[in-house]
Amino acid sequence: MSQTEGVYGYSAVLMGSPILLKLFEHNETLASQVFRLIKQYEDLLTVNRAQSQVMSINHAAGQHPVAVSRPVFELIKCAKAASLFPDSAFNLAIGPLVKRWKIGFKGDSVPPPQEIAALLPRTDPHQVLLDEAAASVFLTQSGMEIDLGAIAKGYIADRVRDFLKKQGVEQGLINLGGNVQTLGSPQGGWSIGLKKPFSGADEMLGVIEVANKSVVTSGVYERYFELDGKRYHHILDPRTGYPLENELESVTIVSADSIDGDIWTTLIFGMGVEKGINMLKDRPDIEAIFVTKRREIILSSANLFRFTPLESDYRLLT
Ligand code: ADP
Ligand code: MG
Ligand code: MG
Repeated sequence: MSQTEGVYGYSAVLMGSPILLKLFEHNETLASQVFRLIKQYEDLLTVNRAQSQVMSINHAAGQHPVAVSRPVFELIKCAKAASLFPDSAFNLAIGPLVKRWKIGFKGDSVPPPQEIAALLPRTDPHQVLLDEAAASVFLTQSGMEIDLGAIAKGYIADRVRDFLKKQGVEQGLINLGGNVQTLGSPQGGWSIGLKKPFSGADEMLGVIEVANKSVVTSGVYERYFELDGKRYHHILDPRTGYPLENELESVTIVSADSIDGDIWTTLIFGMGVEKGINMLKDRPDIEAIFVTKRREIILSSANLFRFTPLESDYRLLT
């Protein structure tokens, strides 16, 4: 526990990430309840261990449907819907490619093109069959694998927010390693740093101020490896099987729910800046901050947050 200016910070390591909870009261019991809740969801959803409900679905690929708990079913349903958007870069069935690349894990390597070509047909989200009444999930081909790594943190961040609200907490913040969800508006808002790509943890491009909003950032600098001078990062293009390549170094989404932030960071990584801005014109509830390789910070709009730039090397465009 740490304390600065009336804000109490509680930390843990869960889901392979540092987790930070901020409260305006000293309440160890509440903090441990929050961490237990996160752990329970991690245990249901992880694919980085031998056992979980999602792993049970994966183990039964090509054989039979697996009944899961309602929240897991609803999350998979939501992830499938996002995967079926026209030309979506989000794909819940991307597992076989993620496992083969191992980006961010020991043993990462660039797979031979013929291996990638052979895995692509096993990543078809249409082949994830859902049975609403039974709350069961069936992967129709053997070798298929669901991976909720791009969406689980957002979902869990929202559940933590709901839990804190139910406990009567008026102001709080949960940071699940890149997914921030906030409750209330202390002194006019929560300040969240926008990271400078490929630099130290405290080097910030600017500060995002929000109240009752989620702030999710996905960046090419978060998990990657380098080979022969080329960088391979952890967000894969389901259309090619290779890491997504465009002008973006990071995308931050500000929205009410963190699950939307998670879905939209991935969708926008697949679209790039111009198409991303166009898509968001119809979604006043979702706003984006793009950071490009050309050292630009571009705001799709800024009605849900306030942005203060801190780095003169980057041009701010709105
Ligand atoms: P982070 O892990 O830094 O929070 P993301 O939220 O963007 O980053 O999630 C990346 C993770 O999602 C990857 O590590 C992988 O497990 C999975 N993934 C990679 N590419 C895709 C994709 N195109 N669609 C869905 N999930 C993906
Ligand atoms: Mg994420
Ligand atoms: Mg994400």
